Amino acid sequence: MSRCLLVSNRLPLAYSDKAQGFTPSSGGLVSAIKGLDAKKVGYDFEWMGIITDDVDPEKITELKNISFGDLRCHPIVVPKNTYELYYNSFCNNVIWPLFHYERSLVQHSEQGWQAYQEVNELVADAIIREAKDDDTIWIHDFHFFLVPGFIKAKRPDLKVGFFLHIPFPSSEIFRELPQRKEILLSLIMCDLVGFHDLSYLTHFKSSLSRVLGERTNLFNERKWGVYPISIDTQHFVDLTNAPETNEFIQRYAEQKKDKKWILGVDRLDYIKGLILKLKSFEEFLKRHPEQKEKVQMVQIVIPSRTDVPEYLDLKQKVEQLVSSINGEYGTPTYMPVHYIFHSVSEFELSALYQLSEVMHIGSRRDGMNLVCLEYVVSQNEKHPGTLLLSEFTGAHSTLSYAVSINPWSAGR
Ligand code: UDP
Repeated sequence: MSRCLLVSNRLPLAYSDKAQGFTPSSGGLVSAIKGLDAKKVGYDFEWMGIITDDVDPEKITELKNISFGDLRCHPIVVPKNTYELYYNSFCNNVIWPLFHYERSLVQHSEQGWQAYQEVNELVADAIIREAKDDDTIWIHDFHFFLVPGFIKAKRPDLKVGFFLHIPFPSSEIFRELPQRKEILLSLIMCDLVGFHDLSYLTHFKSSLSRVLGERTNLFNERKWGVYPISIDTQHFVDLTNAPETNEFIQRYAEQKKDKKWILGVDRLDYIKGLILKLKSFEEFLKRHPEQKEKVQMVQIVIPSRTDVPEYLDLKQKVEQLVSSINGEYGTPTYMPVHYIFHSVSEFELSALYQLSEVMHIGSRRDGMNLVCLEYVVSQNEKHPGTLLLSEFTGAHSTLSYAVSINPWSAGR
């Protein structure tokens, strides 16, 4: 079998002080790869990702010798201060907000861009050192836009694919990026570039002609495609019947009684539209007082980046709104919004998916959104729930039976 080197910002294992060892890290990419049957795909996967140089060298050696399932891990060591600039500044203060159409949150910094280039070159060099002639390199996401260009400059013979997990924005937005040319000139060196949704591919192609203009002869149509990520369906189906899941179902069904639940499961991020979603529920209670005591919102917020002021600010705004709705519409026997600010186990999640009559995904923009797929496969065919799904998610074009919503129309 030929080898595929999968490259992402993080490895699927992270060091935990508590466990005194490496434990699996969560995330959509890890789950999707875990669901792949290597034999069917015809590749032996090995995983390359960054580890910062503040980690004890003995631990790094240990990581080289352990595997994640069948996957071997190859840590790429990057200086911690360069990593922080690359990650916090260019990745999360420029690309993330701009590509999710949140232009007011973009903070440009030349230092951040320098660190981004440095890290991308370090990663490309590590790949070149590891790669054998007939290996395929599969690079993941916006952290590594420049890696294909760096690899191809030194090893044009290596097969390089790139997959973007976030939206590719309209060329009207993309062309605001000062580094637009560098990014496109690297991506067009790939043998294949993949996106979640046709609209992202269309935006990418129009950006190529707008930004690179006469250089469009450098690329050919067959190099791009739409390959939406999915979930390990059988795993989520199996979870619905697990004894641990049933324990949660029984416990929660007693409290829920005949109330209807509208479920939300979102990472703490401005792209998820949490404020708009809470406002729409508030409006619902205002317009339908007869539904008071009958309908509850259960909102899980998965903590993320709470050391960053914008995220902490979002958390406070969400919590203020939750308490204002509960104050206005609550009674001693009714709490309109159940707000949970921590991760839950997959069994608890499966129980919540099954118990909730409605799932509300109100993202302002979302590359794909896996939670809605998980909700759908967890339903009982005899009495399935209803999915309210923002038009601005990548999953929207796949789930044609969902109730399509515009998250900005709360209050209309
Ligand atoms: N999830 C989790 N912990 C939780 C609740 C959910 O890890 O407490 C998982 C969920 O099952 C899903 C992922 O987090 O697989 C979220 O993926 P999605 O694509 O919806 O959003 P992202 O956070 O990647 O933007």
